[in-house]
Amino acid sequence: MPFISDTLSRVKPSPTIAMTAKAAELKAAGRDVIGLSAGEPDFDTPQNIKDAAIAAIAAGKTKYTAPDGIPELKKAICAKLSRDNGLDYSPAQISVGAGGKQTLYNALMATLNAGDEVIIPTPYWVSYPDMVLLAGGTPVLAETTLEGNFKLTAAQLEAAITPKTKWFIFNSPSNPTGAGYSRAELKALTDVLLRHPHVWVMSDDMYEHLAYDGFEFSTPAQIEPALYPRTLTCNGVSKAYAMTGWRIGYAAGPVALIAAMRKVQSQSTSNPCTISQWAAVEALNGTQDFLPGNNATFLRRRDLVVSMLSAIDGITCPTPEGAFYVYPSIKALIGKTTPKGTVINDDQAFANALLDEADVAVVFGAAFGLSPNFRVSYATSDAALIEACRRIQTFCAALT
Ligand code: PLP
Repeated sequence: MPFISDTLSRVKPSPTIAMTAKAAELKAAGRDVIGLSAGEPDFDTPQNIKDAAIAAIAAGKTKYTAPDGIPELKKAICAKLSRDNGLDYSPAQISVGAGGKQTLYNALMATLNAGDEVIIPTPYWVSYPDMVLLAGGTPVLAETTLEGNFKLTAAQLEAAITPKTKWFIFNSPSNPTGAGYSRAELKALTDVLLRHPHVWVMSDDMYEHLAYDGFEFSTPAQIEPALYPRTLTCNGVSKAYAMTGWRIGYAAGPVALIAAMRKVQSQSTSNPCTISQWAAVEALNGTQDFLPGNNATFLRRRDLVVSMLSAIDGITCPTPEGAFYVYPSIKALIGKTTPKGTVINDDQAFANALLDEADVAVVFGAAFGLSPNFRVSYATSDAALIEACRRIQTFCAALT
């Protein structure tokens, strides 16, 4: 009898974390590796947020809290959802977890039975399908195309829905493509969902504040108020506030669902870190003045990376609306050989050879369910990006 559970054997470890760890290992061994695989801003957490955490420690706010968050944070989240999204939620409709990842996981654990289907537009954030599998459900992958800017169409959503569909996971701007749905594009999807009242929407708004060129962020419950009773609006402080290590995410939805998620959390985590919760209160209630400056930096980096990768013969790199990723295609490079004799059979071979022969770490597209592509995270310094893109240019030019 195997010791490890059957459920876990269906799940793979996070490939983004694996690639980042491999790059860190090579770096520690003295190699000059440039890492473009981690999904986290290189900015430091703003000082006012750090100060709030230090003040919380000094004030002895260092004990257990309610399982799904302190009232002050739930109030700050309600105010944020009203201010930024025009959504009216009460504190009883809010769940705070140890990162956006945990709130999504809690919701899936709280709702999925064997055979329940979850529609996931592809390419997807690596954790969605595996979290669905861990919770006993069935991921239903709906593949988008580079030509369609990696956005799911209404017809594709309609075709993916069955009587067993429980959730539709929506993520805009997206990890890994950076694609952001316009209001009209999102409305086309919510119109489909209106015709299928048994389907719930899990909107992962983690990259809400990272949007460029005047892209206007919107979220399903805001675009279609009739979906409010069956929508879980998920977000967090990790990306916009450079707080990946603090581990605070949150979700807003119907009271019964939030109560079920609380039960999962109370028997697993107890509560998200108390000190981080007080820091998140300051993140949401405090100044938001640094966001435009950060976005200007990300926009400059996005344009830099898109132009340098687009200059490569064999790479097609669309310009995304948000997040801090690009997801170029390497279709024209498949079958070529590196100077060391490695054949680029697929995007995994490309990413491995790029790391081994050019010291640049990216994540291969198969990890996100759509090939042959690779994901570049441009949340790193301009100098590192320029050097990394030069190395990718040299690497690709040497392929025969
Ligand atoms: N959702 C998306 C789309 C993400 O890219 C990430 C992190 O990479 C998360 C959720 C999870 O964020 P957190 O670090 O708050 O768990």
